[in-house]
Amino acid sequence: MEAKPRHFRAAHLWLRPGLVYSPGELTVSANGRVLAAKALPSTRKVDACAIFPGLVNAHVHLQIPMLKQQRRDFLPWLGRVMGEMGSSSDEDKMRSCAAAIDQLTASGCTALGEIDSSGLSVRVLRNRPIAGRCYQEVTGFDLSAAKARQLLIRRDLPGSRHCWRGLSPHAPYSVSPALFRTCAASNRKATVHLAESAEEVEFLGSGKGPFRDLLVDLGRLPRGFKAPGRSPARYLDHVGLLGPDCSLVHCQHLDSGDPELIASRGARIVVCPGTIEYFRRPPVPLLRWLKLGIHVALGTDSRASNPAFSMLAEMAGARRLWPQLSPDRVLAMATRDAALAINRPGLGRLSPGAVADFVRVEIAAGQGEQACLEDFTQGRLRRLDTFSRGVRVSGKSGYEAASTVGSGS
Ligand SMILES: [Zn+2]
Repeated sequence: MEAKPRHFRAAHLWLRPGLVYSPGELTVSANGRVLAAKALPSTRKVDACAIFPGLVNAHVHLQIPMLKQQRRDFLPWLGRVMGEMGSSSDEDKMRSCAAAIDQLTASGCTALGEIDSSGLSVRVLRNRPIAGRCYQEVTGFDLSAAKARQLLIRRDLPGSRHCWRGLSPHAPYSVSPALFRTCAASNRKATVHLAESAEEVEFLGSGKGPFRDLLVDLGRLPRGFKAPGRSPARYLDHVGLLGPDCSLVHCQHLDSGDPELIASRGARIVVCPGTIEYFRRPPVPLLRWLKLGIHVALGTDSRASNPAFSMLAEMAGARRLWPQLSPDRVLAMATRDAALAINRPGLGRLSPGAVADFVRVEIAAGQGEQACLEDFTQGRLRRLDTFSRGVRVSGKSGYEAASTVGSGS
């Protein structure tokens, strides 16, 4: 017998930031798509709960666990992460990946942009309902064009059914110009760590500083290397990657004129409040970027720089770092704009035809929609259920039966 559509009713149903039905009903098909969303009469009795689109984590490293010894200076921290990852087995990495997905799902995350450093994440993601994009990470500061092409062939892994493939040339200090150009020519959706540290800006500008020393130590600085003499954003534009198919992560040290260039190219920026607070960095000028029309998304980054590792905590962190942001804007950064950043514009919203990825949270009886949104974006929650494609994948609320009656009346 064909399964019937299911109906989820809530005191407040957010289809996307700015569009709320109070009360509302979401109808989900047997194959996990939104069939319909409608407002219900205000006299209709529904459970004290609210439904939001599933949260989209635009930047994460699922394989990287929490560090055994924490470091708060970026370069020593990077060395420690590389050391711990280098000594962990494939089984460790896959276990870490699975545990990270469970933790994110429990905090309402239904899609992500994963940086897969080894090709192992995609194996785990194939067995999970979580959607998004799995970017294969590539590095090699000394790679020629021929070697770069070989590397991309080796890392040309298909994504999973719900988590599509992408490419992540790591950062301007770890990727050669030829590798960047080869990535750009591949036309794959991409993401790059950009302008994360002052040392990166120094290295691209003058060729000097700790990143030069590190590359010399690793034997990776090509003979006759000349610094590009450009800011990170201008450099990325120069090698052909700056555009709507590439998201830029961190952008902590943009030069004057860089935000305008990023806006003109249609690239998206991902910020990670947990990482900003972990390294005690100043908040980036996010309101200025938004005024320029740049889409800015939220990501958790890895557990090595974000022990909380929750999209709810990221929203709360964004409200703390940029108190002028409206709750609606913060919700957009964790849903619609994060989906744009990973080039999955169909995710992060609940419109007819979209996948039924959503979260349901318990609210106080009679709580108004603004108070509810305020609580959600501040991470103040009683109970949360996460649904992927209409199926509950985390949480166990007591009002399931009442919200899933067979008739749409
Ligand atoms: Zn990262």
